[in-house]
Amino acid sequence: MSVTWRDDRFHDECGLFGIWNHPEAANVAYLGLYALQHRGQESAGIAATDGTGFHTEKHMGWVADVFSPERLRRLPGHRAIGHVRYSTAGSSNLRNAQPITATTARGPIAIAHNGNLTNADALRKDMERDGAIFQSSSDTEVILHLLARAPAGPLEEQLPHALRQITGAYSLLILTPEALYAIRDPNGFRPLTLGRLGDAWVVASETCALDLMEARFERDVEPGEILVISDAGPRSIRPFPPSERLHCVFEYVYFARPDSVLWGRNVHTVRKVMGRQLAREHPVAADIVIPVPDSGTSAALGYSEEAGTPYEMGLIRNHYVGRTFIEPKQGIRHFGVKVKLNPMREMLEGRRVVVVDDSIVRGTTSRKIVKMVRSAGASAVHVRISSPPIQWPCYYGIDTPTRKELIASSHHVEEIRRYLAADSLGYLSLDGMLKATGSDPASYCHACFTGDYRVGLVQEPTPQLRLFDA
Ligand code: SF4
Repeated sequence: MSVTWRDDRFHDECGLFGIWNHPEAANVAYLGLYALQHRGQESAGIAATDGTGFHTEKHMGWVADVFSPERLRRLPGHRAIGHVRYSTAGSSNLRNAQPITATTARGPIAIAHNGNLTNADALRKDMERDGAIFQSSSDTEVILHLLARAPAGPLEEQLPHALRQITGAYSLLILTPEALYAIRDPNGFRPLTLGRLGDAWVVASETCALDLMEARFERDVEPGEILVISDAGPRSIRPFPPSERLHCVFEYVYFARPDSVLWGRNVHTVRKVMGRQLAREHPVAADIVIPVPDSGTSAALGYSEEAGTPYEMGLIRNHYVGRTFIEPKQGIRHFGVKVKLNPMREMLEGRRVVVVDDSIVRGTTSRKIVKMVRSAGASAVHVRISSPPIQWPCYYGIDTPTRKELIASSHHVEEIRRYLAADSLGYLSLDGMLKATGSDPASYCHACFTGDYRVGLVQEPTPQLRLFDA
């Protein structure tokens, strides 16, 4: 039987990389996307320009599989933008892969988007009624249509006109033969950073992409900023009135790579502080602390340090799991999760174990992990989660299940503990999580934990369905 591996997690949906003025722009963009692979594994693409038209290569699959030397040779020019995608708005197929290119009245244009527009459907319906034809189901194309309909003028005047009509989360890269535009929405949901590589300018979703090519970090693109990068260097336009900052706190909890510096702080460090706070909030007598690798590693280190309980590797992750695999007819216990994580009996047998992970979504994987750790001989299994219970879906660019599928939307912590069959369960508090970021707690979006959607009209019914008999 073929089994699809659908891991029980939130998924970031996109990574962006742009470069201006480099003789090997496409090759460098390829490296940048390689470093951003964790932000999207369904499709990858690069659009490059030599100052006239665009050359684009985009396909389904991982960056290393999509870009052969031959495909990279088909991308000449000193300027390029690239994109990795995990589908959110729009289903996952090649038509929705990015960058999207188009020819407008003012010339060719390529666009790549990280985020999700909360009013894309309404805008799209209006435009379709007016006769617009869409090539994809992606909300990014809505931005292209708004640009095409903007009053004639330079792009930097058309952009504010188009962007004022959209709500939600967007970090955008737009490439024309004349300039590279790097844009963050006024609330700054998704990250975007500016760096320098010799004479070239680079823009990336995360600083880990700059590190790979030894580019120097310059600064974050600011919320509400349109950064225009041309041969004259970067120039900033700020066409929006000031808005409240709503950085996605889940970037710190799980999405971003631990070696990235996000909004001024190293992600691994923030996760360790979350783990320390978790240990203070939910102490327990135990022999070892183990992470669910890799997502729980940094928080488990923090928990172990604060609790004074030794850190161990009790679960070993197979990093080479594809999306589907063949399950043998003879059932193997915990097969699905064991393909990805293997418990080490030598570490676990007879020990009281604290298992640290970053979040619980449906709970199905956490339940299997608890069972697996216990089967490997642990005498007690205490689950600790370095974020609060997830009760609400995300509408700002993260792939999440419906509300009724989120276990914490309809079950109390004690009911979830019983479902997991754990000896104890402790979640980090909202205050503890926000404090661990080291910056103003009011500058973060936490709607998936609290239902406090502060941008766009979002209404979710309260789920009645109970997933199991607790
Ligand atoms: S709802 Fe959650 S995942 Fe979505 S932007 Fe807000 S904090 Fe991030």
